[in-house]
Amino acid sequence: MKILDGKKTAKIKEEELLKRVKSFSVPPQLAIILVGEREDSKTYVKQKIKTSERLGIKTHVFSFDEKIKQEELIKKIEELNLNKEISGIIVQMPLPSKLNTRIILDKISPLKDVDGLTTLNQGKILTGDSGAFIPATARGIVSLITLSGISLEGKRVTVLGRSLLVGRPVALLAEKYGATIIQCHSRTKKLDELTRLADILVVAVGKPKFITIKHVKKGQVVVDVGITILQKKGQRVLIGDVDYEKVSKIVKAISPVPGGVGPMTVISLLENVCDAYEERCNT
Ligand code: NAP
Repeated sequence: MKILDGKKTAKIKEEELLKRVKSFSVPPQLAIILVGEREDSKTYVKQKIKTSERLGIKTHVFSFDEKIKQEELIKKIEELNLNKEISGIIVQMPLPSKLNTRIILDKISPLKDVDGLTTLNQGKILTGDSGAFIPATARGIVSLITLSGISLEGKRVTVLGRSLLVGRPVALLAEKYGATIIQCHSRTKKLDELTRLADILVVAVGKPKFITIKHVKKGQVVVDVGITILQKKGQRVLIGDVDYEKVSKIVKAISPVPGGVGPMTVISLLENVCDAYEERCNT
């Protein structure tokens, strides 16, 4: 059984990016908007800052109370849109439910939408526009698969989940690479039949150990996107959507949690930041 090692693969990408950033006349700058006190969101932001620092990408974190008014948040985004030094803007998801996520995301300039979540960018992904920003997790998953020496061309890929953040863009991207897609969601019936049809199974559901031995077969590649943070004996543990211990005994290759898709997501976001920086320099 092969482990799809996200840590190792992200390091390879990091070395490439480091050279890229060094070739820039000034360091790219990323603005991160964080609303509220969610521990998971704070952890993800910290990881983004840490990796950015290693690469020489400057980050600016704007933290707001969860009671912030929508107009105030929009004002900040508009200010960042106009700031020529900022190459990328991300709003850490999820936002508190009283805020309208769609309205807020769509205020981000399409040129700085490095999370790829604006309506315009999602449309570009759908039409196969080469200028689209691919949401970081989807870009990271495809990089993890291909850099592990696994081709997507002609493969049957079953994706569990259809969110704009993960499920949908990863399905579209894998299809672009020549895969045939089966997309599943909470209303899908006979899920285990569809998961077993896959050559490559991508699981982004958000339910710990949801995928068990009945969902998989020999020879498959399994990519576990899910992260659930639990407290065990006073310690924080990250649990994936796949029952790793059991499933890894059957399949050909599997990504662990942690150390699989997570590090790939961070590095892919920073790839998008570099793309945005270069795009701006070339326009
Ligand atoms: P989400 O927006 O909650 O979407 C979950 C998806 O799973 C939905 O499309 C839902 O279907 C589907 N689903 C729910 N129950 C299902 C079932 N029984 N069978 C099949 N599909 C089912 O979550 P997300 O943002 O896509 O994230 C998914 C997971 O990935 C979470 O654990 C998240 O923390 C993790 N994540 C990890 C990274 C990383 O870097 N590793 C990055 C982003 C997200 P419906 O559409 O029908 O509701």
